[in-house]
Amino acid sequence: MPNPFKSLRRAVLSKPLMGWYKSVLPGLSDTEAQALEAGDTWWETDLFSGKPDWDRFASFSSKGFTPEEQAFLDGPVRELCGMLDDFEIEHELLDLPEPVWAFLKRHKFFGMIIPQEFDGLGFSASAHSEVVKRIATRNVSAAVTVMVPNSLGPGELLMLYGTEDQKAYYLPRLAKGEEIPCFALTGVEAGSDASAMTATGTVCEGEWDGKNTLGIKLDWEKRYTTLGPVATLIGLAFKLKDPDGLLGGEEDLGITVALVPTDLHGVDTGDRHIPAGLAFQNGPSWGRNVFIPVDQILGGKEQIGQGWKMLMGALAAGRGISLPSLSTAAAQVSAQSTGAYARIREQFGINIGKFEGVQEKLAPIGAIAYQLEAARRFICIGLDNGHHPGVASGIMKYHATERMRETVNHAMDVHGGKSICVGPKNYLETPYRAIPIGITVEGANILTRSLIIFGQGSIRCHPYILKEMQAVAISDKKEALQKFDDLIWRHVGHDIANIWRSWFHSLTGGKFAAAPRNSQLKLYYRELARYSANLAVASEISLGILGGKLKFKESISARLGDVLAELFLLSAALKRFEADDAPAADKPLLDWVFSDGIARMHTKLAEVGENFPSGFWGWTIRLLTQTGGQRRRGPTDAMTQAVANLIQTPGEARNRLTEGVFTGKDTDPLAALERALAMTVECQTLRDRMREKDTDSPQAARDAGIITAEEYEKLRDVHRAVREVIEVDSFDPSRLTKTGMNADSEEPRKALSA
Ligand SMILES: Cc1cc2nc3c(=O)[nH]c(=O)nc-3n(C[C@H](O)[C@H](O)[C@H](O)COP(=O)(O)OP(=O)(O)OC[C@H]3O[C@@H](n4cnc5c(N)ncnc54)[C@H](O)[C@@H]3O)c2cc1C
Repeated sequence: MPNPFKSLRRAVLSKPLMGWYKSVLPGLSDTEAQALEAGDTWWETDLFSGKPDWDRFASFSSKGFTPEEQAFLDGPVRELCGMLDDFEIEHELLDLPEPVWAFLKRHKFFGMIIPQEFDGLGFSASAHSEVVKRIATRNVSAAVTVMVPNSLGPGELLMLYGTEDQKAYYLPRLAKGEEIPCFALTGVEAGSDASAMTATGTVCEGEWDGKNTLGIKLDWEKRYTTLGPVATLIGLAFKLKDPDGLLGGEEDLGITVALVPTDLHGVDTGDRHIPAGLAFQNGPSWGRNVFIPVDQILGGKEQIGQGWKMLMGALAAGRGISLPSLSTAAAQVSAQSTGAYARIREQFGINIGKFEGVQEKLAPIGAIAYQLEAARRFICIGLDNGHHPGVASGIMKYHATERMRETVNHAMDVHGGKSICVGPKNYLETPYRAIPIGITVEGANILTRSLIIFGQGSIRCHPYILKEMQAVAISDKKEALQKFDDLIWRHVGHDIANIWRSWFHSLTGGKFAAAPRNSQLKLYYRELARYSANLAVASEISLGILGGKLKFKESISARLGDVLAELFLLSAALKRFEADDAPAADKPLLDWVFSDGIARMHTKLAEVGENFPSGFWGWTIRLLTQTGGQRRRGPTDAMTQAVANLIQTPGEARNRLTEGVFTGKDTDPLAALERALAMTVECQTLRDRMREKDTDSPQAARDAGIITAEEYEKLRDVHRAVREVIEVDSFDPSRLTKTGMNADSEEPRKALSA
């Protein structure tokens, strides 16, 4: 029997509400709509809901590595790292040495994600990410070379969308390195905006293997393609047209991906860009009248026009692995090296790590290394459980690379001239040059923050909006109203609960927010629950008042995305601390990370309120999220000092923080640094004894009987070890050329025509 109350509600309230709802919905381009359909969501939906489910959170756990994965990390990965000479690769060869290429192929580094049934290694996301991270602690170019075939490569696209024939032919060849793949999406016009792509494919008949075949004639001009110059197989994105109706459908078929062997007539590859002077292979490619049969379309005819959705789906996982692994490596190397350097480098008679100004840089370096490793492991839990969380991986891509930038910059500051002068003794210069690459690739950061994280998050993670959008799009008006009515009133109930929660938890500083009963970290769980409720109401007001215009108020949506991201990253830090059995020695790191993260969220929400286009609604946002007026000012000086000391002091917390960094053999710069640190710490009591007697010189101390002859020798050894580390390289001018290029080459420089 129809419910009279519901019928009345539908007619009087829901119908006009539906009309208004349609009018404020954001207009979506085809590429945006396809991006929304790609991948799925994970923990970020809870954070967006205003009431995270802590039981669900407790159920997330890492499966660890299989014996094969562990053996690979302990065997080929270690061996590979030992073969990599950063200076030789980045400054002398501008490429990986031939034995390294051969080793990578032989040990199937390019086939980590390819299943074993196709001759790959079939590794989990956790193992894949760990391998890339460890290599990157030694050399970025080698890590990028391994990373690309294991992401868009197009190995992953083949696994997800390839036809059975394509999988059977290409996957084993890719796994064994018999094919070197690359993925070419970016062109001259189309950077962030793929819909501006000018690469075209025209359906036509042509000759293939001596037979007349239905195929595609391709024309393209791509740039920035990683591995492009050495690739044998291009995953090519282009717009497909069928002007003669040979496929029997429309003329414009949309963005499509095909597998294009580079030895085909008309394909031109081999030239190299030099991205920030780094050595990994990257370059442009051109195709002129290149003919391929339709069988080369990735996924066959069924996947025509699905290129953008395919890419977004693959990136939804890839963004959570590649750049986060590289960024964590840079953060861990920064923490290990800068902590040690600050401890051994003395100025004004004391080690520089004792100066408060230096500690202000050391603490974020340590905290970021802790947080990025936590977040890297956390997202891998989601990926290993079969999720392709587009929003969470966007968060990871953006925040891992931005925090990597922060940590490497701080590390450079603390090292001073030592990290500026190029040479084999400089372990920070390559990560420093790599910063803008991480920021730009796989979705440039400004765009990712401004459009993707909250833009997609607000629709994908919201419990009702996507369903409501689908309901109002139903052509049968009666059915649409019925569905909309059901959703919108539950949505209103959800909002009322969140308004109350947000205001009450702000007023009471989150003291009564939900937290797991037995956790010793209740305080932090409560903070997350409070800010989750704050985010939910601030988002709801922004969406409701600005509607489709929110897309153009990037500064508002980006700040809301920052809060969502912070909640995700802080959840990851909690998960790591608990998974590591809550070590007391690591608590200063967790405390610093939380204090900093909470201050960031608090400030961002205040800024949303202050800058909201409507004064009344801005005031409402502040009322509902900031009422308690508690101070959220970030880490105190004492917290900063604790973390700065932690990264300067050898011990279990520092070891955990830098786990996976390849330190190398004795003569390697990081190994020399660790040795000097250990010796410095061991001799600290001698230095203290001398200081008590107002003596700086070991010789004077020995002569005065303050230290023994044996102790004097120890101090001399420390001095030698420290000297070895603080030295920088210099070169005879005859070894240097003005450009580092072959000035005698007759080859003209080529440019992509705009
Ligand atoms: C070293 C390197 C390796 C690469 N590897 C590959 C590869 O293997 N395959 C491939 O296809 N591509 C690759 N790329 C291309 C890379 O993905 C693009 O550089 C990236 O998508 C950005 O495009 P763009 O450089 O043309 O910048 P643009 O698109 O011109 O953007 C310029 C700036 O504007 C910002 N911006 C653009 N639109 C908006 C918006 N709506 N709101 C806010 N900000 C916005 C961007 O964030 C960026 O900061 C690589 C690039 C580099 C440098």
